[in-house]
Amino acid sequence: MSTKKTANMAIKHLNRTNIFQLLYRQEPKTKQDIVASLHLCLPTVTQNINQLADEGLVTESGSIGNTGGRRAKTYTTVKNARTAIGLDITRNHVTTVIVNLTGEICYRVRIRQAFSRTDSYYQFLGKQVENAVEESGINPSHLLGVGIGVPGLITEDNQSVFYGEILNFTGATCSEFSKYIPYHTALYNDANAAGFAELWARKELNNAFYIMLSNNIGGSIAIHNQIYTGNFLRSGEVGHIRIVPDGRPCYCGQRGCVDAYCAATELSSLTGGDLSTFFKLLKGDDEKALDVWNQYLDYLALTIINVHMLFDSTIILGGYVGEFLDDYINELRERVRLLNPFEDNADFLWVCSYKTEAIAAGAALNFIADFVNSI
Ligand SMILES: [Zn+2]
Repeated sequence: MSTKKTANMAIKHLNRTNIFQLLYRQEPKTKQDIVASLHLCLPTVTQNINQLADEGLVTESGSIGNTGGRRAKTYTTVKNARTAIGLDITRNHVTTVIVNLTGEICYRVRIRQAFSRTDSYYQFLGKQVENAVEESGINPSHLLGVGIGVPGLITEDNQSVFYGEILNFTGATCSEFSKYIPYHTALYNDANAAGFAELWARKELNNAFYIMLSNNIGGSIAIHNQIYTGNFLRSGEVGHIRIVPDGRPCYCGQRGCVDAYCAATELSSLTGGDLSTFFKLLKGDDEKALDVWNQYLDYLALTIINVHMLFDSTIILGGYVGEFLDDYINELRERVRLLNPFEDNADFLWVCSYKTEAIAAGAALNFIADFVNSI
């Protein structure tokens, strides 16, 4: 193919991408709006809109203009034109969600199922995906893929787990997980997936540090809207920052790590593993719960200020504990404020937008983002 022909095709593709993305970010728009925003000619815009409409990606949404004059049709993207599935794998549960092009969750199921690296477990995952497709009624040919969020560190190609102490599954592969899943699949680190979902939910954020306060602690760094993975894909491991010299033992083999002080189990161990019961006790001013909570908040505040000193960014708290933090965020901010050498506040500290489904949603949203960026 000639260079000129290749260049023409690249321009045509870029026009299509720009038109779709403009509608995707700022809908609805008329053809004239698109002409003005992208400096394209009307026939180019019309041709692309027709093509995108034929593919079911764009549709007429109404019209604007004076009632006396000629009204111009407006166009929007079709939010359910593509979907993606996300799975969140933990020691005892599997959460399945479906998200559409806008990141809206249109299906969610959480089932108790103990993790095991067995064929029957992988069959179970296949069944969850099959059920999700059937029960939601989505078009399987428009399903972009299945993202699988796991508590482990993942290779750059999203195909295997290179550190998996939490579930003892180091070396597990994506093909193993997806043996019974007939769609594109990819593995994602749980905290990175959840952090990605939080960034998606808050478009105004560019830089953020996400701390996942679940039964283990995870962290995720976003710089200029991209997850920063580090040189060896082990970035953001806030759970293994040591805050107490020779402190409590951590599962990583070290002592005094954040994980040993701020994991959700530090709270739920008081109530037989049930975190919501812990927060009920706390609401009822139970003395033991207050004592544990008080200590927990001090360690958490210390962790937060250490991270903030390094990143000077928004910090979002999520995970199992994050789900309950709305009522306590001001108290926590106050403790962080007292440790802040630069400002007399801790306004950089936020509670997560997604609650229990952040990991699954984030794993799915990776497929949505790839689609929107490459259309
Ligand atoms: Zn550790």
